[in-house]
Amino acid sequence: MICLTTTERTLTSALKQVERNKAYIDMVELRLDLLDEDELASAQIFPRLCALPTIATFRRVSDGGKSQLSDKIRMTKLREIVLQGDFSYVDIEEDVKKSDLKIKREDDLPRYDFENELKLKGIKIIRSFHDMEKLPSNLFSLASKIAKKGDIPKIAVTPNTIVDVVTLFRMNEELKDIKEKIIIGMGDYGVCTRILYKKVGSMLTFASEDEIAPGQLSAKTLKLLYRADQVNARTNVYGIIGNPVLHTSSPLIHNPGFDAIHYNAIYVPFLVDKVRAFFKLAELIRIHGFSVTVPHKRDVLPYLGKITREVKQIGACNTVTRIQGMWKGTNTDYYGFLSPIETAISKGEIKSALIIGAGGAARAVAWALRNHHVKVTIANRTLSKAKLLASETMSNYIELEKIKTLQDSVDLVVQTTVVGMSPNDNEDILEDFEFVKPCFVYDLVYKPKYTKLLKRAQESGCTVINGSTMLLEQGKLQFESFTGYHFPHWVEVEL
Ligand code: NAP
Repeated sequence: MICLTTTERTLTSALKQVERNKAYIDMVELRLDLLDEDELASAQIFPRLCALPTIATFRRVSDGGKSQLSDKIRMTKLREIVLQGDFSYVDIEEDVKKSDLKIKREDDLPRYDFENELKLKGIKIIRSFHDMEKLPSNLFSLASKIAKKGDIPKIAVTPNTIVDVVTLFRMNEELKDIKEKIIIGMGDYGVCTRILYKKVGSMLTFASEDEIAPGQLSAKTLKLLYRADQVNARTNVYGIIGNPVLHTSSPLIHNPGFDAIHYNAIYVPFLVDKVRAFFKLAELIRIHGFSVTVPHKRDVLPYLGKITREVKQIGACNTVTRIQGMWKGTNTDYYGFLSPIETAISKGEIKSALIIGAGGAARAVAWALRNHHVKVTIANRTLSKAKLLASETMSNYIELEKIKTLQDSVDLVVQTTVVGMSPNDNEDILEDFEFVKPCFVYDLVYKPKYTKLLKRAQESGCTVINGSTMLLEQGKLQFESFTGYHFPHWVEVEL
């Protein structure tokens, strides 16, 4: 189930929020602590009006909420609201004392037993544990203890490494006897657990419009892009590893592609600090293949059983697939880069090229061009790196300050550095290079789509190719490696 957490201050606007998301959600969490004080008096009508199963949550500050009331007063207010309405669940923090759930009456009669009243009304109790900083060591026993009392354990904790993420995914197996449980990894490392909530063993995942908890995604993204609620035991898991990785556009290629060919699969971003630990996760949840981005393109090499010629030459791998019990590494940056200029090379329109940069991407570019008999010259801020790459690829190198000398001779200029990338859209590493001869200009930067360099080159009559084209091409090739099918041509990808 996808559960929308309301983030509004009034019931009316919270209902509008539910309406906006209705197509993507199965249930709602009404956050009483976020409502204005005077709204609480009518909060009991909310479940009937929104017509979806609703959790009542009155979150205190220490657990990431806004309520500053004492537990006693908070529980008294929560009781008044919940017992008058049609709530399906009520969330009570795991450490709220029994005595605070025995609610005092005005008269001298025995106190109300809130837990018992909830049970009699058929409202399920979620006992929640939050750790906004880390993963506590007693996770499994904590969840078991709550479940033994007949309540639904909710464990919302913060993984700080991929090893922590492995622990969260292990909860599915370790706690498989607990049918109803909620497990959430918060923060950037936890994003994959929010998407793959079913693989973690969680009965639901929370979504919000305003990222009320760290790492939370929108309901629309979970439902339409990831189809997170469709994941089942037969779903093949794919992903991308990197650090950082959450800005990646690759899910926009693979998930719609899987959907279009009716392939039961999902593609998820995994923030990874240690590649070794990620391979453990890949075994645990049977990941079928994954893309690799900065800084892990070299780090994955020791774990691969098989690599292609390009991976060997470039010394970097951006695509890993599980083939007959081993991991195979390929490099689709190589072919993705070539794809838009292949015809021009074969027609003899591109015989010489200037590459700016000597990092990971430049390595793939230099080898691709050299293998296609294009004469390459490499310029880089750190000259020693240009020199090294040039000697490996049997190319030439030149000081960045002297590239002007090539402006009337090269057929292709490839910009492979981060210069010009958003938010530094105003930078142009080739500022002094004039396009006196119309040539091909290829910028690997894909945000913005057209860099200052490309705009200038286009105005000078050059043929320009942007980084999005390469990104999409290399992604389509990865899709083929993952699925064995061509990327469906009818899917329009907007990167
Ligand atoms: P990398 O290995 O870190 O290399 C970075 C390169 O940029 C190095 O040559 C570095 O020079 C240079 N550089 C960095 N800051 C600079 C500055 N301020 N002035 C001049 N040069 C600077 O990174 P990478 O993996 O090669 O990626 C580079 C770019 O390509 C990124 O923008 C990435 O998004 C893009 N890319 C795009 C695609 C695609 O499909 N479109 C695929 C891969 C990469 P030094 O050696 O002097 O540090």
